[in-house]
Amino acid sequence: MDTTQREELRGKIGAAIDEHAPGIIGVADQIHKRPEVGFREVFASRLLADSLRAQGFEVEKPLGGLETAFRATKRGRGPGPTVAVLAEYDALPGIDHGCGHNLIAGSGLAAAIGLGQVMDQLDGTFQIIGTPAEEGGGGKVILIDAGVFAGVDAALMVHHAGHQTGSATAYPGGTCLAVSHLDFVFHGKPAHAAGDPYNGANALNGVIKLFTGIDALRQHIRTDARIHGIITHGGDAANVVPHRAEAKFFVRAGDRAYLDQLEQKVRRIAQGAALMTETTVEIDYGSPTCYDMRPSYPIGRAYEENMRRVGMTVNARDQRERGPYSTDFGNVSYLVPSVTGSFAISHTPIPGHSQQVVDASCSEFGYEQLLKVSTAMALTALDLFTDAELLGQAKDEHARWSELYEGR
Ligand SMILES: [Zn+2]
Repeated sequence: MDTTQREELRGKIGAAIDEHAPGIIGVADQIHKRPEVGFREVFASRLLADSLRAQGFEVEKPLGGLETAFRATKRGRGPGPTVAVLAEYDALPGIDHGCGHNLIAGSGLAAAIGLGQVMDQLDGTFQIIGTPAEEGGGGKVILIDAGVFAGVDAALMVHHAGHQTGSATAYPGGTCLAVSHLDFVFHGKPAHAAGDPYNGANALNGVIKLFTGIDALRQHIRTDARIHGIITHGGDAANVVPHRAEAKFFVRAGDRAYLDQLEQKVRRIAQGAALMTETTVEIDYGSPTCYDMRPSYPIGRAYEENMRRVGMTVNARDQRERGPYSTDFGNVSYLVPSVTGSFAISHTPIPGHSQQVVDASCSEFGYEQLLKVSTAMALTALDLFTDAELLGQAKDEHARWSELYEGR
């Protein structure tokens, strides 16, 4: 495809998104007004699925065993790559749309409207995949296990980044932490705490030893690793030796391989704590393990170019450090080249998961930025359909990720 043709398609995509701006903002706004937590996004997933159907997309829902997941598909004129845009729409317990996922929902519809205008002139398949429960539920991991991403060649997303706009363009930009969510239940033996404590086994002591053991481990872990936990049950009465005590921990590390090692160390500490206190311990995953993000830098560079093309101000961001957060998009990034377009919803810095994000996610500026970043994402999808070299570079980097970037 020559540059004139591609420029013409860019124009059509931008015009379609502009024309449907009120509808796109309407969807983001309705979802903002009706926050639903992970796996319960009944209203949001239905609204999106219906809106995508109205745009001529073929919608499968439920998907991968999840009621609130869906896939909307539009095929091009012939065989070619499959590009997927991922839409999240879950709210946070207690703080509504404190992560702005209503805007991500709107971006899925916007991208569908944009690409929908031009797919009949492109080879390949465009998909919007509705992915529930990003906040702690690991919805994308469940969809991966169900085979939903088989056949996808590249995955794109948007996510607000406070006051900053840009994509990942060079390592370690856009990387984050892998996390495993561990639930511990210590079982002991009840006894009267004063009458016959020698007959009891104290499960709370098991939990306390788990904490102190992990604290001793901290000196010996890599700088970017994080281990943090809470006690969720510590006994029922002070005059009874606790026979059951529970704790939850998140173990985070810079990459999946080191996370596995660290998780094994924490599990051994729990076994040691049980041995010391003559209790037993059960360890379960509270939710699916999220891998670190391996952003596609070739696609990220194209994404930033498109952000500039649509008039967004790309900020000079610090890309020298791994982001101290985790996402189930990381697991997708281990499967296929994936990248997020980060966009500003505020002119000044704001904390994540906060009331400020709730407010900015339904502000005039937030919605203006939503339209722009969605257009940039749609143009990046267009690049992937029309520039085989770009997709080739992304696939090559993806195949050699460990060799290129890990252990540096
Ligand atoms: Zn989020």
